Amino acid sequence: MNLQLSVDNRAEIFGDATSIADLAQFSFTGEDSQKLDIYRVDEILQADWSGEIRDMEMEYATGVTTTFKDGSRLTVAAWADCCDRTGYCSHCGQGALAA
Ligand SMILES: [Zn+2]
Repeated sequence: MNLQLSVDNRAEIFGDATSIADLAQFSFTGEDSQKLDIYRVDEILQADWSGEIRDMEMEYATGVTTTFKDGSRLTVAAWADCCDRTGYCSHCGQGALAA
């Protein structure tokens, strides 16, 4: 298993001992950054933390940095491509003409 993520609580504004990013990192337990793509990271975050997200920066084949409403930040590395380019992909649009 090779999950790479980091939590940054320097900008956490509520003074809570446990930030949202501290909690949100556990949504990725068992995931593997080699196999994760950024859209999957987005899906996981939206499923568990949609009401807590203030901002999200997604960089293809690199990772996703999410800033939560309490100011804490979670960066999850996601190195995989979103698809194998053979069928239509709603994320990158690749394969749209193949069918
Ligand atoms: Zn794709």
